[in-house]
Amino acid sequence: MDTYRIFKRAIVDVFKLGKRYYVLFILQSLASTSAPFIGFIFITRIIATLNTNNMSLLPELIAQYLIILLILQIIGGFLEPLVNDEKSLFLRKMFALPNKKMLTMRYQQAESSEVREQLDIINRYMQNSQSSLPLIDVRMTAIIPDLIAIIWGTVLLLPLFSVDMSLIPDQFWWMHPLIILTIFIALIGLSVLVQLKTSKKSAESFQQMMSKLKRFNAMFLYEHALLEDVQSGKEIRLYNLTTKMVKNVESEENYIRGLLSDNYRRFRKMILPASGLFQIMNYLIYGYIGVLVLMGALPVAMIILLSNALSQMITALPSIIQQAMMMVSSPNELKDFYAFMDLPDEEVVGSLPVEKRLDNRYRFNVQNMSFAYPGSDEQVLKNISETFEVGKKYAIVGENGSGKTTFIKVLTRLYDPTEGSIKMNKIDARKYDLREYFNLFGVVFQDYHLVGFSLGQNVSVQPMFDKEIVLNNLDKVGLGNFVRKLPDHLDTHLGTEFDDSGVNVSGGQEQKLAIARSLYKDSPVMILDEPTAALDPLTEFEIYQNFDNLVKDKTAFYISHRLSSSKFCDEILVFDKGEIVQRGTHKELVDQEGKYRELWNAQAQYYQ
Ligand code: ADP
Repeated sequence: MDTYRIFKRAIVDVFKLGKRYYVLFILQSLASTSAPFIGFIFITRIIATLNTNNMSLLPELIAQYLIILLILQIIGGFLEPLVNDEKSLFLRKMFALPNKKMLTMRYQQAESSEVREQLDIINRYMQNSQSSLPLIDVRMTAIIPDLIAIIWGTVLLLPLFSVDMSLIPDQFWWMHPLIILTIFIALIGLSVLVQLKTSKKSAESFQQMMSKLKRFNAMFLYEHALLEDVQSGKEIRLYNLTTKMVKNVESEENYIRGLLSDNYRRFRKMILPASGLFQIMNYLIYGYIGVLVLMGALPVAMIILLSNALSQMITALPSIIQQAMMMVSSPNELKDFYAFMDLPDEEVVGSLPVEKRLDNRYRFNVQNMSFAYPGSDEQVLKNISETFEVGKKYAIVGENGSGKTTFIKVLTRLYDPTEGSIKMNKIDARKYDLREYFNLFGVVFQDYHLVGFSLGQNVSVQPMFDKEIVLNNLDKVGLGNFVRKLPDHLDTHLGTEFDDSGVNVSGGQEQKLAIARSLYKDSPVMILDEPTAALDPLTEFEIYQNFDNLVKDKTAFYISHRLSSSKFCDEILVFDKGEIVQRGTHKELVDQEGKYRELWNAQAQYYQ
């Protein structure tokens, strides 16, 4: 994407995201920036009135002026807290963008270390007001009042065109406002060019300084973290690092001071030609207005209005250019930002709706499927071809690292197969709408995450839920009575971090909650990935016994490296180094020579 498009997109995005904030900010700027211009208008009118000796109008004029000022001040005062509130909401929304993107992008990207690194870098940029989207906001908020000043200035300069040319002697024909306006515009053009050039240089040197500062900022953050960490206090004292750290901080401060003053000197030098030109324009215009007044072509009072309007404009114009140049001088952070934000979302993958079937007949068929994690050549799953019947219970067993969890990730489409395919009811799973496809599965992963909030919400994953169904599912995993005895029942907060009246539960109870959550989802396919890791043997036995009751007529996958669990299933799939090396019932497999018997014998001692 080219730089122009990137900035256009960023500006549109920033305005869209902070719509309310910017509307209020523009209103506030209108109130504050307009005050001096309105002042010029009234002072001109007051002087004009003084000249006519018609003093009776004066009190009214002064009263009008004061009332308008008061109204502007009240508006400004009212708006200020609103603007500040909206700004903080807007900044929150802006900072949340990359993390929100992580939630909507395809999981296979969200899990990759490259994308996580990218996220880290982008979030760091987002925390710096001189880069990425925050830079656009900072510069826009500086440009808006200047733009308002320019609009006011242009409006106030209009009387120049009502100059009565008949009052100007013929030899001064070149003083016609149109000719002067043309010269004025040409001079503005020239100043803008000079300004653009110097601004570009100053923006570049600013960027250079910022990149030098980056290293020091990182060091500063590191040292701060070290000082904040109570544990590191031991080393700092024992190795006598205190003096050294103080010295470090001092020398960093000196270096940064040097950088800043160098930058300021360079900036001053660069700004000189442009501001000189603008000043010359200022004098010329003053002279022109003065001569017009002397010739009687403009009323004396106009001098104040016109000259002030002009000098406000002439200050605002270079400032806008400077801000705009500062804004466009660092496109790389924005390019990184949008490269990240443009990673494909889950929504865009597949469009076919998943047929709603009351009989839950969703049949899965894996064909020559192989898989390697993105960025790796190692095939974690190798040429797997299997068919799974509706309503059967499958155990997936195998040593750690043999590919069991990865198989589930591919089956549920968290990842796409690298080769081959998974078919659901004879159609390639990739064709289905991903959200609808996800809904086919109730999964409890080994590294399940509970989400805070109340126990009821944790099971239902929704703010509003059917209490009966939640309790019913908690009963199934043996947690119903525990929850009923709590004073706030299902509304009890999980954990005490955010709520003192919350409840801390054991690892086993957490895992049961996670199982109840997958049951509440009531999906046609249940997957339990090592669900018993945190359960004590008695509870583990309870869950096995209850397994049929838990999953009923759903198709179920039960992953475990403990073979005792596999006995409860209709069929067992044995994984070894990414391949399914055996498939059959427990009885068939223990009677066969092979991996299963090997594993069974190795583990049998624990099941005696
Ligand atoms: P199991 O569930 O049988 O213990 P996994 O499916 O978790 O095995 O892992 C299979 C292989 O894939 C292992 O070698 C593991 O290191 C690798 N692996 C797992 N997750 C990732 C990942 N996100 N990125 C790269 N490699 C991974």
